[in-house]
Amino acid sequence: MPVALPCPVGVHAHGIVWEGAAGSVVAPTEQLERDGREAVEASVELAKRLYAVADYSILIAPPGQGGPTPSSCRLRFNWAFSLMAGPTSGQSTNIIRHELGHVILHKQVNLPPSAAIPAWLNELSAIAFEDDASANSRLKIAELLARQGALIPISHMLTMPHPEQLAASEALHRGKVSYTSVAPETVGFYTTLKVLLDLMVKNNGENGLLGVLTKCARNHGDLHALVLHLTGSISDSDLDVKLKLQARGEDKKPL
Ligand SMILES: [Zn+2]
Repeated sequence: MPVALPCPVGVHAHGIVWEGAAGSVVAPTEQLERDGREAVEASVELAKRLYAVADYSILIAPPGQGGPTPSSCRLRFNWAFSLMAGPTSGQSTNIIRHELGHVILHKQVNLPPSAAIPAWLNELSAIAFEDDASANSRLKIAELLARQGALIPISHMLTMPHPEQLAASEALHRGKVSYTSVAPETVGFYTTLKVLLDLMVKNNGENGLLGVLTKCARNHGDLHALVLHLTGSISDSDLDVKLKLQARGEDKKPL
C-alpha cells in the first residue's frame, strides 16, 4: 500500500504539482517539472531503502492545485528557495530531494515538525536523500575539516540546536530573509552529519537504517546509545576518532 504524505510539498509564487500515484505535474517551466519528477522518483526509492517501507506516494502541490489546504499542511517547501540555485542548473532537484528527506522523516516519526526530533536526526535524514554530487562535495569538505580538527564532537552534535534555525530566527529579528543567513557552525554541522551517516551505512548497510533511528526517537529511546551501537563505538571519544578517520579516508588504508 502506498503511504500518502499528509501534506503537499511546494507552496509560494512558483507552483509545482507532482502526484506520485496519479502522475500529474504542473510547474512554471519544463525544467522545474523535470527537476520535481526526478527528485520524487529518487526520494521514493531512497525512502524504501532507508526507512524499509513498501512504497511511497509523494505529492508536490501548491494549495488549491491538487493538495490539501494549507492550514492542514505541516510542512511547506519554499519553491523560491530552490530557484536561488538557478532554475536551469538542476540544483533544484537536489534541494527538493533534501527537503523530501525532512518530510519523510516527519511522516515516519509521526510527530509535529517541532516536537521531539533532535536537530541532528532531522538533518541526517535530509542529507541521506541528497544526490551524488552533493555527497561528494560534502566529503571533500569533511576531509578538510577533519585535517583541521574541525569536525563537531559527537557529544555536542547530538545535543546542539540546528545552527541554521538559530541564525534564521536571529535574521528574522533583524528583518532579513531567513534562509539566506548562515551560522558559524552550519558547515561543520552538515559535514559531520554526512560523515556520521556514511559510517553508520558502512557498518550496517542502508536497509532500514533511518527507520531504526526514527523508531527510537518516536519511542523516546536512547538515541545516543543507538548511535554508538550503530557505529560500533564504545564512547563518544571513540566515535570522534572513527569520524575523523572516516572523513580523512584513513579507515580504508592498511595498517
Ligand atoms: Zn535540511
